[in-house]
Order: sequence, then structure tokens, then C-alpha cells
Amino acid sequence: MTFRATILTLYPEMFPGHLGHSLAGKALERGQWAIEPVQIRDFAEDRHRTVDDTPAGGGAGMVLKPDILAKAIDHVSADDHRPRLLMSPRGRPLTQKRVRELATSEGVVIVCGRFEGVDQRVIEARQLEEVSMGDYILSGGEPAALTLLDAVVRILPGVMGNALSGTHESFEDGLLEYPHYTRPQVFEGREIPAVLTSGNHGEIDKWRREQALKLTKERRPDLLNQTAGKTP
Ligand code: SAH
Repeated sequence: MTFRATILTLYPEMFPGHLGHSLAGKALERGQWAIEPVQIRDFAEDRHRTVDDTPAGGGAGMVLKPDILAKAIDHVSADDHRPRLLMSPRGRPLTQKRVRELATSEGVVIVCGRFEGVDQRVIEARQLEEVSMGDYILSGGEPAALTLLDAVVRILPGVMGNALSGTHESFEDGLLEYPHYTRPQVFEGREIPAVLTSGNHGEIDKWRREQALKLTKERRPDLLNQTAGKTP
């Protein structure tokens, strides 16, 4: 089954963007996933192909019209069961857990907002799941959609060359990852920690686990609280 991403956007030329390169790009060429950008403007009905209007109640900026967006959504997902996402700073912050769930689905429909955002009624009427990339404001949903797809596509079966390299990473076990080292043995006077070149795999695993715990305590204590009682 090919994972199929349909993107509703005013800037279809922004896709596949960086996902046309590297491992994701090769997987795209091999047909292991597919991306279909759809121009929202194609669903506008008037001569000027209007997609936005002024906010009810006043204020700055413009709002994406619900009728046009609903038509676009219905056109691409009338008869499928893919999750319908709306990139939005008001959404639930994206986690690796949600990424893993999405990677097991048949694909996604992603709506990219622009201007001040989209009319609330289409979010409700089409049951859009609002997903945030973090507590900052982007100028549009496109880079957020590309980021979400990057995270999903890299864990689709067969996309990453080395299957193992997708498994021991930050967040996979509720911790930030331990630090990495490679040759040269000495870099600007700094040595690779001796345990890593000792050949003792038990000691190496123990050291990595300690480092991961220490880093997580220092930088993201919130992660430890979330997984309390879950990880051994
Ligand atoms: N006025 C809105 C921000 C609009 S930004 C507010 O204050 O909440 C324009 C569009 O960019 C949004 O509709 C959304 O699709 C996208 N966007 C901006 N920041 C984002 C974020 N942190 N995560 C996901 N999408 C974001």
C-alpha cells in the first residue's frame, strides 16, 4: 500500500520541496509514497478566484473562506478514510507517537492555512485535526506540512536504507538520544569517551543510557514526567 499525501495549498509549487531529495526523494521516485498538491484556488467560483475575505468582527488580515475550502476537501477526500489535518499553531503539538500512527495509515490530507487562518466552521464541519509544529508563528502551513511529512515518510517501510537507524532515537523511548562520536580519535584535543572504543557492549549500552537520562534531565525534564512509570 502506497502512503498518499494530498496537500491543499495556495502554493502547490512548494511541494515536494526538500522531500524530492535524499532518501525521501528516492522513495518518492520508487513509488513508496506519493504526494499530490492541490491548488485551493481552483475551487473558487468567481472571476477573480477569491479564496479569502475580511474577518467577521474586524481586525487585521484575511481569513480563508469555508465554502471554497470545503469544496476542495470534499473533492480530494469524499470517499476515503485518511486523517484530515490542518496545520495550525492552535493545534496539538506534533509528537513522534502521532507520527508513528500516521505512518501506519493509508495516507493523509493536509490543509495548509495562510493569512490569519481558516474559518472556524470548516474546521468543525470537516472535522479537521489541528496539528502544531511548536509555539511560534509561521507565515503559512506549507513548511509545517513538509516537516510533518518528513517525519512520517522516513519511517515508512523501506524508505530508510538501514532499518535499525530508525529505532534508537530521541523520543523513541521517551528520552533524548545519547551523544554520537566518530573518527578522528582526537579532535582539537577532545577524545572520544574511552568506553565507546572499549569493545564492551554491556558497558557501552549502560553509558549511553546514563547519558540519555542525564541529557533529558538537564534539557527536557518534562519528557521524564510524561513517561514516569512507563519506561523501565
Ligand atoms: N493568526 C494565526 C496565525 C496564522 S499563521 C494565529 O495567531 O493563530 C498562517 C498559517 O500558518 C496558519 O493558518 C497555519 O496553517 C500556519 N502555521 C503558522 N504557525 C504554525 C505552527 N506553529 N504550526 C503549524 N502551522 C502553523
